[in-house]
Amino acid sequence: MLYEGGAKKVGFASLETMTGGPTGADITYLLPEAQSAISFYVPFSKDLILKYLGKEDPSIRGVHEEENLEIHRIIWKASQRVKHWLIEQGYKAMSVIPNNHYRTDIPGWQVSLPPELSLRYLAVRSGVASFGWSGNVGTKDHGTAIILGGIVTNAKLKSTDPIPESESFCDKCKICTKVCAYQMFSPTEETNISIGGYHFSYSKRINKMRCFITCGGSNGLHSSGKFSTWSPGRYDLPENDEEVTRLLSLALTSQRKRPLIKDSSSGYQPASYGGMGTVQLTCGNCQFVCVGNPKETAKRYKALINSGCIIQNEDGSLEVYPTEKAKEVFESMSIKRQHLYRKDYKRNLRNRT
Ligand code: SF4
Ligand code: SF4
Repeated sequence: MLYEGGAKKVGFASLETMTGGPTGADITYLLPEAQSAISFYVPFSKDLILKYLGKEDPSIRGVHEEENLEIHRIIWKASQRVKHWLIEQGYKAMSVIPNNHYRTDIPGWQVSLPPELSLRYLAVRSGVASFGWSGNVGTKDHGTAIILGGIVTNAKLKSTDPIPESESFCDKCKICTKVCAYQMFSPTEETNISIGGYHFSYSKRINKMRCFITCGGSNGLHSSGKFSTWSPGRYDLPENDEEVTRLLSLALTSQRKRPLIKDSSSGYQPASYGGMGTVQLTCGNCQFVCVGNPKETAKRYKALINSGCIIQNEDGSLEVYPTEKAKEVFESMSIKRQHLYRKDYKRNLRNRT
């Protein structure tokens, strides 16, 4: 049923194979009687990703967002079909919402963003995908440009094994660390976890709010100043956690005053993360740059770093400019408009020290 619904790979985990993992590996949080969980993924179109990273023209952001939202719908539909079938067979089952749903019972969840069930943990333990250095999961066939789905059930299903290290798509090229505007994850330090007797590792998260600011669309400019995401934000790189916190509140406030990005897609509103408003996708660079083979990953990386920068027009539409030209256009805007996208948020902190 999942393959018919668009999945490229399916795997199974049991209560036993998910034991001993971090909080997100608990399959009983969503369904206390759960005995098993099903994992699967649906990939993005490879051609479109190259156009998205290379900012081929301003319409591509909206087309990519539509594809992204559509894959989430495909995953939900396939999960629900299996869930209903399991229920018809007399079992209990729940579909896992693939994004933006967090465990609100954990103190500080707004910062740590703990998922109700980590679809990544489920995927790596059941052999559907393996960890890349970025912390995204992927396969040799599709790299990390995939979206995961999952179902938990009290049916007892035979578990499948993790992908062996020798079969991993990740050669630790670390290109993913070079495309994150705010260096959310470390190029050298590791996170180590163990789930059901298997050991997994990926890069250490430096501060998830660094991603929240960029992937959330407040900032777009890479710390090198040479290219941007699809966001027109142009804030300087926060050097430490205090600067991240300061920038987060300032940038979110300014972002709400910007017009919504005007193209074919108007984004979505995360149901369980109050106060975020409409989310329009502008990054995902660490996920999309990785193809699963070095030559193709290098091609995507080259397309991204030569893609230029984004400037937003007053009506909300986006323009793509070469790096220096974008700087020039930005500096020619009124100070009031510039403040929607850039402010010296470090000044107050400098005055205090
Ligand atoms: S870009 Fe992909 S292959 Fe290279 S280190 Fe990152 S996750 Fe691994
Ligand atoms: S999605 Fe963008 S901002 Fe977030 S970690 Fe990846 S590259 Fe960095």
